[in-house]
Amino acid sequence: MSVPETVDAEALARWLRRFAEVVAANRELLTRLDAAIGDADHGANMDRGMAAVVTTLEADAPAGAGALLKQVGMTLVRTVGGASGPLYGTFFLRMATSAGDSGSLDAMGFAKALRAGLEGVVARGKAEAGDKTMFDALAPAVDALESSLARGAALRTALQMAASAAATGRDATVPMLARKGRASYLGERSVGHQDPGATSAALLIASAGTTIPEER
Ligand code: ADP
Ligand code: MG
Repeated sequence: MSVPETVDAEALARWLRRFAEVVAANRELLTRLDAAIGDADHGANMDRGMAAVVTTLEADAPAGAGALLKQVGMTLVRTVGGASGPLYGTFFLRMATSAGDSGSLDAMGFAKALRAGLEGVVARGKAEAGDKTMFDALAPAVDALESSLARGAALRTALQMAASAAATGRDATVPMLARKGRASYLGERSVGHQDPGATSAALLIASAGTTIPEER
């Protein structure tokens, strides 16, 4: 047996710092996508929120996984705004609840926390598969993570499968007709555009694969 893989607060902080960098690098892309079917603020919203997360991590990073996820969720709720602020905030707050007081998670525990986060997004936003939202990237990613781990894959491999599923899910939003959020006001005119929230969600999952598993 290999060494059990643990996802501790430090690993989570690495993930979120990387996501902040990737969001900053893709700020214009997210803005452009939201300009086509929304109000052109998704890049600014996410960049502001993740910059605030990095600031709080630098000032005072909680030592436990659950506490860190809670701090991230509260920071995002406070700073992101729009529809995506409460949704991403809820995602991390539900991850935190799933993690509880545990100082660190194992690979299955991390997958469980992501599943809880996804359920929080659904509880708040009521999105279903095919509605052209962040759900369409997140849900296949969580499914892929769980099934890869269940087949005995290492966390790094399972997260790569999840990232690939998220990218496929993101791309699949292009032909969808938006049924939730601002883009739904466009009706048929939302067809043919990639969803900004699915795009940032795919970046979130992609950021995990290279940062969360421990180097060894
Ligand atoms: P706003 O739409 O308020 O300007 P953002 O531009 O930051 O907020 O975020 C838009 C993204 O939020 C969309 O691309 C979509 O992925 C996501 N979104 C909007 N409404 C919902 C919902 N009800 N459920 C899940 N995701 C949603
Ligand atoms: Mg917007």
